[in-house]
Amino acid sequence: PVTRETAEQWIRAYAAAIAEHEQALTQLDMAIGDGDHGANMQRGFQAVLSRLGSVAEGDLGALFKLVGMTLLSTVGGTSGPLYGTLFLQMALKTQGKHELAPEELEAALRAGLEGIIARGKAAPGDKTMIDALKPAQEALRQALNQKSSLAEALRRAEEAARTGRDATIALVARKGRASYLGERSAGHQDPGATSAHLLMECAARTWM
Ligand code: ADP
Ligand code: MG
Ligand code: MG
Repeated sequence: PVTRETAEQWIRAYAAAIAEHEQALTQLDMAIGDGDHGANMQRGFQAVLSRLGSVAEGDLGALFKLVGMTLLSTVGGTSGPLYGTLFLQMALKTQGKHELAPEELEAALRAGLEGIIARGKAAPGDKTMIDALKPAQEALRQALNQKSSLAEALRRAEEAARTGRDATIALVARKGRASYLGERSAGHQDPGATSAHLLMECAARTWM
């Protein structure tokens, strides 16, 4: 079940995944951005880890709020405010809750995605994190509508995020720094879509 405890495992798993993939994320951002996506995410999630130690209690909303506020205040790049918004919107949907039904997790993720879109104004196909997150949220919703278990639904969401991430390679960037390159941004995988896929992969592993 999605509880404060398992959601914290998800966040910790993601922090570990970011640490493991920091160099790879940086390499991707060196090709079409300013080469700091790995460092930005690493700084943010190391700060999250250090603050998690002090807030062991609380509901799911409190956990996601801590993550969101920490990302907003410690990550300078574009991705910090956007991931910060994702978690703050998830916090609004889960405040006061100690356990979520699968549908509530999907609703929280959907609110987070809508927050990112409202803030960053990117559409699907613009070669951003949206290209991994939106297919994942849609696959999650569809699987749950078909009465799949949370584990199965998250497995499909991870697959959709992976497919969306891979599809960013061919795209020309229309948002963010990569858009400055125009056509030359094609042929490179988007860093933010890559970190977004990792987030879904960690969710699938946490609740499998
Ligand atoms: P910066 O570009 O400020 O250096 P990062 O390198 O940490 O920040 O993050 C870059 C990633 O942010 C991109 O790969 C892309 O996925 C994402 N991104 C950039 N602009 C937007 C936007 N407007 N909406 C959604 N995601 C965006
Ligand atoms: Mg960058
Ligand atoms: Mg930067």
